[in-house]
Amino acid sequence: MITPARSVATIRAGTRDRGEILFGANSMQHGTAVFEGIRCYRTPDGPAVFRLDEHLARLLRSARLVGIPHPYDLEELRRQVLAAAARSGLADCYLRPVLFAPDPYLGLDLRELTFELATEIWPGGARGEHGGTGIRVTVSRWRRPSARAFPAQAKATGTYAASAVARTEAAAAGFDDAIQLGLESGRVVEATVANVFAVKNGVLRTPWLADDPLAGITRATVLTLAADLGIPAAEGPIEESQLRAADEIFLTGTASELVRVGSIDNRSLGLCGPVFDRICAAFDAAVTGRDSSHRSWLTPVPLVADE
Ligand code: PMP
Repeated sequence: MITPARSVATIRAGTRDRGEILFGANSMQHGTAVFEGIRCYRTPDGPAVFRLDEHLARLLRSARLVGIPHPYDLEELRRQVLAAAARSGLADCYLRPVLFAPDPYLGLDLRELTFELATEIWPGGARGEHGGTGIRVTVSRWRRPSARAFPAQAKATGTYAASAVARTEAAAAGFDDAIQLGLESGRVVEATVANVFAVKNGVLRTPWLADDPLAGITRATVLTLAADLGIPAAEGPIEESQLRAADEIFLTGTASELVRVGSIDNRSLGLCGPVFDRICAAFDAAVTGRDSSHRSWLTPVPLVADE
């Protein structure tokens, strides 16, 4: 898991500068930035970025949904992010490219602003535990902001204040994370920064995109791996009562990877998670390049940064 440690570098597009974000910056003041969280893994052939193009396509989509003007296409973003990974010198790391407006201008018409790319880098942290005995989650009273209030598929910094409110309240009550329900549907959507999966009688389920969870890249990876393994899996509506009655629950996200849920509102799920364990083994093999059938998910980091 990524510990909330300090990042090791900020690499602004086209410069070697460590970033200095002005406190007056529009994106700082109003949360008007879009970003991605991407992982780079140590593989037998050197460091490689996991599902880079899917992350960058989502970054471009977030910018489009929010109305952020910027000069980057997918190829240029790929070049910048790989260069940042190469310059970090880290084999296992977590990269956050962010499109942000540094201007100390307080307007809300984003067309007036100039957005630029910076890539923040954190060390990757220890791998392979996947949460051990499992985390403690609660179902939050705070619902996910509706897609009718804000584009749900935009990964924008401002929306994470809503996640922070739910997470902070859960943590103060002794939980590790909170499951959030849809504002209008009342159904399970996702955790504060991760997608959620539930297993019942050997069948894997995750909320469908119609209920507006983020279209997580780890979520998509798990669905593919489940198909590879012959584990029946479905996207669909999940009621809170169905989640509470699940045999296994786990969370998925780039930073935290796959995390076993040990209890939900103090109802223990037990230590046995056969579906989770199989998915974890397949996930580890895929991200570290040991599973040759998913090598296309890995983009090698160039040895020398391409300036
Ligand atoms: N939902 C939310 C709200 C998130 O912030 C994240 C993390 N990006 C996810 C789900 C998981 O998405 P991914 O697997 O693409 O990291």
